[in-house]
Amino acid sequence: MDSDLNWIRSQQDVMVDRLIRWSSINSFSHNLSGLQEMVHALRHDFSVLDGAATLLPLPPVNSISLQGEQVSCPLGEVLHMRCRQEAPLQILVGGHYDTVYPPSKNPPLPRRVDNDTLEGEGVADMKGGLALLLTLLEALDRAPLGKNIGWELLITPDEEIGSPGSRMLWEEAAAGKQLALLFEPALGDGSLVSARMGSGHLTFVVKGLAAHAGRDFFEGRSAIYALTHLLHLLEPLSSEASGIIFNPGLINGGAAANIVADRAVCHAMIRAWYKADIDATLHRIDAAAQEVAQSRGVLIEVHREMFRPPKVCDEATMELLTGLKGAGRELGMKVEWQKTGGVCDGNSIASLGLPTCDNLGVRGGKTHSSKEFATLSSLSERASLVTHYLLKLASGELNMPSRSRWTS
Ligand SMILES: [Zn+2]
Repeated sequence: MDSDLNWIRSQQDVMVDRLIRWSSINSFSHNLSGLQEMVHALRHDFSVLDGAATLLPLPPVNSISLQGEQVSCPLGEVLHMRCRQEAPLQILVGGHYDTVYPPSKNPPLPRRVDNDTLEGEGVADMKGGLALLLTLLEALDRAPLGKNIGWELLITPDEEIGSPGSRMLWEEAAAGKQLALLFEPALGDGSLVSARMGSGHLTFVVKGLAAHAGRDFFEGRSAIYALTHLLHLLEPLSSEASGIIFNPGLINGGAAANIVADRAVCHAMIRAWYKADIDATLHRIDAAAQEVAQSRGVLIEVHREMFRPPKVCDEATMELLTGLKGAGRELGMKVEWQKTGGVCDGNSIASLGLPTCDNLGVRGGKTHSSKEFATLSSLSERASLVTHYLLKLASGELNMPSRSRWTS
């Protein structure tokens, strides 16, 4: 095993080069040409592995625009690979290649802040994770024990918008697997994630009645007043004590100051640790919407989109995390974990009963901001940790974590 880990360390510069190259491509979830350039770069680079790399198109998804209209949204392609399907251990690996950064005039330029820090779009979330995933899969190809591990890989273009197109693919790929490893970034202090909140997007579309604001104000039905009334009623849903969050994140409405607004739209998100809390919160939201619609004489549609179930820290998750911690100890690395309000594809995969660790990617921080950075030494560190853990499973020194008993 030592020679496998030495080989990974020898690949540090290769990983950094790949990360710089990939994060020089803008792959915003809605930038189709950038997504295409990125997925072709990935397919080219991942072709060094045993197993054929194919691209799977995703059908467009419907969403509600800020004008309250149904719109069709095209998506990028998924990189899919399978390897060693006859091996006794079968795992699911992958992540996403889209980012939250809309394209600007100039292509993104990752910046080397110091010897160990690279700043740039998606360097931590999660192109760094993809770079170390590729190297650890190469290490498995090279290691004699690697023949005991087969894997299926998905790298998707739509995670940052809630995986509306790729979620089905994750669910199909999870069937028959014993373990799922995703490479989202480590938490700020380097921790792995034990539990995640569940989340759901909601879009409120309020339809009122337009009228001249001077001559017929009292004939109109203001959609803006109705929406703000509703949000005021919903504000107490959020509380630190209950661990429930309701966030109206974006609103749009009306046409001009002298017109009673006939349309208002709000994109909102709810998060909670337990599915029962999500269900109860949705029920309260529907009831409040109905109450406001009736009292103000408007129509309120509540559209529910992209729900991700909470990820519970159960025995199977603990077995997986403890196994990783043991592997880390043998390499002189400290492996800790904690829960987080952030969500990812790991939520949906874990809800199928598959033991899942979803943030084995690089250490870094300030993700989703112009200061996003990755700590470069964590590339070989994390690739070594996961390879060492997998080879312990492959040798029989460690058992696969048991399947989770809960599903949502
Ligand atoms: Zn991510």
